[in-house]
Amino acid sequence: MSRWPLIAKSPPTQQERHYRLYKEALSIESGRRCVYCGITEAEFGGLRNFHVEHYRPKSRFAALANDYDNLFFACGICNVFKGDDWPGDPDPSNNAIAYPKPSNVDYNSLFSVDDGGAVSGRNPAAVYLIERVHLNRAQLIVSRRFEKALEELSAFLDWVHAFRPQYQGREGDLERLLHLVVQLAQYQVRITQARPYGPADQR
Ligand SMILES: [Zn+2]
Repeated sequence: MSRWPLIAKSPPTQQERHYRLYKEALSIESGRRCVYCGITEAEFGGLRNFHVEHYRPKSRFAALANDYDNLFFACGICNVFKGDDWPGDPDPSNNAIAYPKPSNVDYNSLFSVDDGGAVSGRNPAAVYLIERVHLNRAQLIVSRRFEKALEELSAFLDWVHAFRPQYQGREGDLERLLHLVVQLAQYQVRITQARPYGPADQR
């Protein structure tokens, strides 16, 4: 799954009275990742470390405080950095200083990720977002490097398997090595999909 999936808003049929009650639905809808930095629940200590984020801050847009369309899933760090900041409405070209809405804009199109895992913005809105929410935090750099390495490893393993007949007597060793590498990759994928805490922690 992409680090920044475009969020398809799917409001629960039952309308809740308070935005906090939407946390689980928002987590599912975002692939259990922060919509801004892409960190997973498993990487960042579980659901309790994530907040219900008000895209338009509730301090300025009180009428939208419990409006599902205005709510997103964000890690506590991004949520606090963004805070009550609202520089203005976004424009479709992202040339204005504003927050692109995660349900309208594919965040992958906003950023370039270099080989070292750092992101840079492709337009003024993206540059602002990176600076304001600190999207080059040390943990995010490591997380993005790791995901990139896993993607490369997956492609490399396919290539290695294609040359299997040329191993010349070391098949057993190479198979063991490949098995270990595949196991490590699978464990990491399972970790990023896991939920560290149970339903009791949903609020
Ligand atoms: Zn985040």
